[in-house]
Amino acid sequence: MRSVSVFGATGSIGESTFDLLLHQGGQDAYRTVALTAGRNVSRLVGQARILNPEIAVIADETCLADLRDALAGTGIETAAGATAIAEAADRQADWVMSGIVGAAGLVPGFQALRHGGALALANKESLVTAGPLLMAEAARHQARILPVDSEHSAVFQALVGEDMAAVERITITASGGAFRDWPLERLARATVEEASMHPNWAMGQRITIDSASMFNKALEIIETREFFGIEPEQIEVLVHPESMLHALVSFRDGGMIGHLGAPDMRHAIGYALNWPDRTHLPVARLDLASVGQLTFAEPDPARYPALRLARDVMATGGLAGAAFNAAKEVALDGFIAGNIGFSAMAAVVEEVLDQLSGQSGLGKPPLSLDMVLDMDREARRLAGNVIATKDWT
Ligand code: NAD
Ligand code: MG
Repeated sequence: MRSVSVFGATGSIGESTFDLLLHQGGQDAYRTVALTAGRNVSRLVGQARILNPEIAVIADETCLADLRDALAGTGIETAAGATAIAEAADRQADWVMSGIVGAAGLVPGFQALRHGGALALANKESLVTAGPLLMAEAARHQARILPVDSEHSAVFQALVGEDMAAVERITITASGGAFRDWPLERLARATVEEASMHPNWAMGQRITIDSASMFNKALEIIETREFFGIEPEQIEVLVHPESMLHALVSFRDGGMIGHLGAPDMRHAIGYALNWPDRTHLPVARLDLASVGQLTFAEPDPARYPALRLARDVMATGGLAGAAFNAAKEVALDGFIAGNIGFSAMAAVVEEVLDQLSGQSGLGKPPLSLDMVLDMDREARRLAGNVIATKDWT
């Protein structure tokens, strides 16, 4: 029987993972080691009662008493806090879903890799902030990182049996987000509610807003570079409003291999769960005749400044990815809290990167997780200052 753990079990990725684990046999097919959540006790308890993990961990320590009470008598251990989540990742499992949102997913993913096995990586922030370290750690422990971001899963699938040396270009697609068709001058006044509506995908609120700003695609360009070891100029983004063709790999003979599927994360999660096999997945089948046509366009740089920032970050290299992600997380918090406007997010991140570029440390290769976490803290501090010093609304 395979053992599994799900980090971020109550989120959008976590719930889809839970759904697939049940679809594929639940407790009869899997032994669940750990389930973790941020602060949603009732969903964590609901899942734990069905999958019966060794341990259920909640990040928010004020929720521990409720979690403990709700699982009393089940034999399931309970714990709380970031350290407890990292410790849960220290329990060996054959397959681990890294589905926590943000830099908080970095340490548990690292910890899980040290036990070999497979890390299904939805948490793109891990590769953006610490890509070289993460890849080296996986190689050291003969662990497997299986990409779960839909575009990266698509590339991974298109590359089966191929030689990376024959790859000319990787194209990842973007829906264009909630504001694809808005007049540019209206963007600055976009509300949190408006930015939280995705045209095609049902996802967590943070990644949905990041899709509207294309910070999500900016992270994904860097993720592509880190995971597939390809040069920045070989990575292309195309706006594809239908979200059906997730990525394309172009080869040196002029051929292109793409991956199509309905916009449902259970495709990518299911591929990672069953890799290298394919099994039946409860996802919608695409009917291309009724879709009729698929459209593609170059992203407008004025609408999506985050894409330019990602290129700058890759040119700087080193710890710039960690700074970029941390500044983005703080800017996003600021937008959600109503402290800064939608268009100010990119301006705040750019300001933080400008301030850091004066310091020699930014382009230094991340030699340890501590270096990454230090840069993460420093960029968060600067972003807080940048937001506080000016009216960005
Ligand atoms: P979400 O907000 O729906 O869920 C996040 C999960 O992490 C929840 O279980 C939450 O409780 C937990 N969490 C939040 N903060 C935490 C913290 N500080 N410590 C511990 N746990 C914490 O997010 P999501 O949309 O499921 O995204 C998860 C990750 O997957 C992100 O990195 C996202 O970029 C990536 N991703 C998501 C999708 C998608 O369709 N949702 C697609 C591609 C990639
Ligand atoms: Mg994606």
